[in-house]
Amino acid sequence: MLADALSETLQRLENAADAAHRPAPALLAVSKLQPVAAIAELAAAGQRAFGENYVQEAQAKIAELGALSLEWHLIGHLQSNKADVAARVFDWVQTVDRHKLVGALSRYRAATQPPLNVLIQVNIDDEASKHGCAPDDVPALADAIAAEPRLCLRGLMAIPAPHPDIALRAAAFSRMKALYDALAARYPQVDTLSMGMSDDYAQAIAHGATLVRIGTALFGARPAPPAAG
Ligand SMILES: *Cc1c(COP(=O)(O)O)cnc(C)c1O
Repeated sequence: MLADALSETLQRLENAADAAHRPAPALLAVSKLQPVAAIAELAAAGQRAFGENYVQEAQAKIAELGALSLEWHLIGHLQSNKADVAARVFDWVQTVDRHKLVGALSRYRAATQPPLNVLIQVNIDDEASKHGCAPDDVPALADAIAAEPRLCLRGLMAIPAPHPDIALRAAAFSRMKALYDALAARYPQVDTLSMGMSDDYAQAIAHGATLVRIGTALFGARPAPPAAG
């Protein structure tokens, strides 16, 4: 029962927040590769915010579940040639990491829609394999986003390296918190620090995450992606 998994997950988030003397974070249910029936079941249990990684998969699901008025977040890498679709179908894009995307998302967000909520993805561990901007690039990117009336800068997102040494993960979370505090001091609309997944949410919450992205711990193991080709 996904309703049980949802209430257990919310309880775990609250316990982690209590233990760290922090407010409980918002829960983003990461539904990539999960069927629409599972999303509808969680929505019926009260979950509103869902995270998807692939623009085309999300577009189909959002169309199918349109009547439920859910809140959709893009949490996967965004290619510039998909920015037009992403700007129209999502409520949030958490993976803005370069200037080119700022202009494209702003251009394609319809004037009839509310501004698109945007997080800057930061490559906090400077991993060659990961997307995200360098920490030093955050201020300039934030200024560019804030200058676009079709976009609303809400904060930062990161996927720290899954380092087995817990202290090194903590260091990444705490660098994100410092970047976030500096941004929030500059922009009053900034209220979201997106970090923490199924296996490290407690640590992320202890370091000030306001939104955690949980897939496996909520839905169970993900179905395998379709074979390429
Ligand atoms: C898949 C994914 C998650 C969820 O991961 P789980 O370990 O299943 O909780 C969170 N954030 C991002 C960016 C993801 O791609």
